[in-house]
Amino acid sequence: MSKEKVFFKTFGCRTNQFDTQVMMSRLEDFELCRDEAEADVVVVNSCTVTNGADATVRHYINALRRRNPAARVILAGCGAHSKGEELLRQGKVYGVMGHSEKERINEILHRPEGFYEIGDLEHVDSTVVGEFVGKSRAFIKIQEGCDFRCSYCIIPSVRGNARSHDEAQILEQIRLLAANGFGEFILTGTNVGSYGRDRGSSIARLLKRISQIRGVRRIRIGSLEPIQIDAEFKELLDEPWMARHLHIALQHTSDRMLELMNRRNRYAEDRKLFEELAERGYALGTDFIVGHPGEGEAEWRQAMERIEELPLTHVHAFTYSPREGTPSASMGPGVRGDMAKARHRELTERIRQKNLAFRREHHRDLTVLLESGEDGRYRGYDQYYNRIVVRSDQDLEATWVYIAEAEVHKEENRATLSLG
Ligand code: SF4
Repeated sequence: MSKEKVFFKTFGCRTNQFDTQVMMSRLEDFELCRDEAEADVVVVNSCTVTNGADATVRHYINALRRRNPAARVILAGCGAHSKGEELLRQGKVYGVMGHSEKERINEILHRPEGFYEIGDLEHVDSTVVGEFVGKSRAFIKIQEGCDFRCSYCIIPSVRGNARSHDEAQILEQIRLLAANGFGEFILTGTNVGSYGRDRGSSIARLLKRISQIRGVRRIRIGSLEPIQIDAEFKELLDEPWMARHLHIALQHTSDRMLELMNRRNRYAEDRKLFEELAERGYALGTDFIVGHPGEGEAEWRQAMERIEELPLTHVHAFTYSPREGTPSASMGPGVRGDMAKARHRELTERIRQKNLAFRREHHRDLTVLLESGEDGRYRGYDQYYNRIVVRSDQDLEATWVYIAEAEVHKEENRATLSLG
């Protein structure tokens, strides 16, 4: 008898992408398929970070049911915890499985009738993923959940409090991947920098151990909170395996906004930290939420003046979107949509210029991991997490290259590598 085909659809962050890999690696009696129209089962690994994210998942499920009405749709991921009951009741999904049930997916997919297996929010995965489909960089999930309570964020209530994965398992997983040719590792989780606090360890100690594994060339850390960059972490800044780029989530540069957001960082310390890291040769990215309730013209202008002062090179700017059940959702006054959009544009444009200025200063001696390519054009990132396109007549997919000097273009760096 042929195996039933399973298609995975992933929404949201890297943690979700990782969770999908965990589920894929646990399928025994099913076959992976690449087209949802042909699947017998579609697992939707959903995101619920904003009301908009919920709507995207709902649209996908509705469209899928029209395209492939016979498929059994299973809701997994964060949305299972916030919207699972409702979607099951409405008959939109066949089954709902919570985060802690991922590793039991093979058994769960055999259920002869609809199910709701939400599990708990204390579980820590123990799956070692040995291969990543079609990627040259490996994402390693090192922890789950968050102890912070930022007012706009629903994550702690759908992923639970911070729990670190077992160090021996993380190291085993990286050893396996490094032996399979992966050289760059990106540590991810809900609040990566909190790693180790529940196990008498720390992110810095974990980084040191990972760096000792043969084959590990470069380590990136998904996102850190400013307060997590402590003296122990700073000792690692000159290590050759540290990517010269840190992503530090500020979320805002106005203290009034940081207070409303219930953040633990404040601008004066953030600025000191960023200046110190920039002096040590780091490119610096941040997350920034634009248009959170209470962001009046005065707060915005101050925020932009401070953006000017900060040595920033990258930004993930998010336009605030309310999430039911969070304190921010009932705060006022709100920011009009068109104004939030204009602010988003202003911020991203300013950071684009700052990134260009940074690349003009840092376009020599680049170590690049090329990821994908076609027609002799390969894309990858340098140590500063700047994108580069390399032209070559050799096959350079998933290859490390050294670029003595790149051309700096508006959107990206470029270089040519030719045979001998
Ligand atoms: S640090 Fe704040 S924004 Fe990030 S997951 Fe935790 S509560 Fe949410």
